[in-house]
Amino acid sequence: MNKAVQVFKFGGASVKDADAIKNVANILKNYQDKSLVIIVSAMGKTTNALEKIVAAYFEKDIEKAMRLLEETKTAHYQVMANLFDQSHEVFPMINDIFVEIEWVLEDEIEDSYDYIYDQIVSVGELASSRILSSYLNENDLSTAWLDTRDIILTDDTFREGRVNWEQTQKRAATQVPALLENNQFVLTQGFIASNNENQTTTLGREGSDFSAAIYSFCLDATSMSIWKDVPGILTADPRLFDNVTLINRLSYKEAIEMTYYGAKVIHPKTIKPLQNKNIPLHVKSFINPEGEGSMISEDIDIIEYPPVIVVEGDQCLLHISTKDFSFVAERHLSYLFKLFSDHRIKINMMQNMAISFSVCVNNIPDRIKGLVDILEEDFKVVKDDNLELITVRNYREEMLKELTQDKIVLFEERIRKTIQMVVKKVPTMKWKKD
Ligand code: ADP
Ligand code: ASP
Ligand code: MG
Repeated sequence: MNKAVQVFKFGGASVKDADAIKNVANILKNYQDKSLVIIVSAMGKTTNALEKIVAAYFEKDIEKAMRLLEETKTAHYQVMANLFDQSHEVFPMINDIFVEIEWVLEDEIEDSYDYIYDQIVSVGELASSRILSSYLNENDLSTAWLDTRDIILTDDTFREGRVNWEQTQKRAATQVPALLENNQFVLTQGFIASNNENQTTTLGREGSDFSAAIYSFCLDATSMSIWKDVPGILTADPRLFDNVTLINRLSYKEAIEMTYYGAKVIHPKTIKPLQNKNIPLHVKSFINPEGEGSMISEDIDIIEYPPVIVVEGDQCLLHISTKDFSFVAERHLSYLFKLFSDHRIKINMMQNMAISFSVCVNNIPDRIKGLVDILEEDFKVVKDDNLELITVRNYREEMLKELTQDKIVLFEERIRKTIQMVVKKVPTMKWKKD
């Protein structure tokens, strides 16, 4: 019979430097009697750094791309120098992983941006997982390194691979239990996967939480834990608000809603697979591992949740109107929705009026430009930039004034206990002296 498996996920902040990696090993020492599948993200801000290499390559600035690559590599080597002897096999391993990027950069651009992106950016997780597994083995925690590209199969949508659940489940069920027979832990990468042709794909930014949920689902894990730099799920992002409080227990439904509205603490695709198999999700602090954290599970008899604030920055409003002042009728709407979906632009909020239709979307310049170019063939489009979308679940009226201080509310919508507001910062006025 297969062992009961728990899935742990360590994000970028938890492995950002040598001390952080030592801290992860210390946490794992408390779980030596458990069978763990551990998912790890790229170290610190490595993914952002690798994205810049891709951008430089496509700007045809190879010198810059090579310089950025050298910087990222050096950062990894510095971390390793604090963890291993110079002669450790991890050094050539990491070198081989980074060489793959050099090979891409040496070639002329022949493939799409999204394809190249996945080949370069995936290196972050390949490197961090090799470093962490080597360190755990070095410290008597027997750990098998697993290439997640042999397990998670996606379609060809580079940068946003859609999971083939059936094949993924088959591969996980045959390969992972065997590794756990001979090792305490199995350690693999978050965020990355592969398609049918064995090309590397990724699951979208912040996708490591989702990877952990995929493993939890496929292995029927008894629980999943994500280790963060916060005590658990808070009533708002502590980077933006003071006076936040910890929410110890949440239902799957509440967590799905929070992440849907953009709460950055968990990737939105994470909860559903767990809910389908009733697997509890713990959000715990790697800074204070003894802390209770938050637990997300089936409906629980919490009478009232506290107000939860979610702020999504970098939003824009697109006001779409017909050129001849005719109504924006159903036939237009179905065409418009299809265009948004084809351009992979999620509508965060919308308002339909007689001759115009306004939507609030994340400002992703290349996608929006592609959409607007097509829209302008038939419609008049006005774009309003630099906006924020504030969502408050379980809101109380008295909070709203404070939240919208120094802001102009462009539109708002209230549905039961949730309010959403698209706001613009009031520009600070400077009075001219005569
Ligand atoms: P990881 O390293 O696991 O990817 P993230 O940086 O993606 O971690 O997520 C943790 C961050 O999420 C926290 O540092 C915090 O600033 C932010 N965050 C946003 N909303 C919340 C919330 N409601 N509760 C806790 N943290 C939040
Ligand atoms: N490293 C990837 C990112 O920064 C995936 C993740 O950390 O979840 O987006
Ligand atoms: Mg994250």
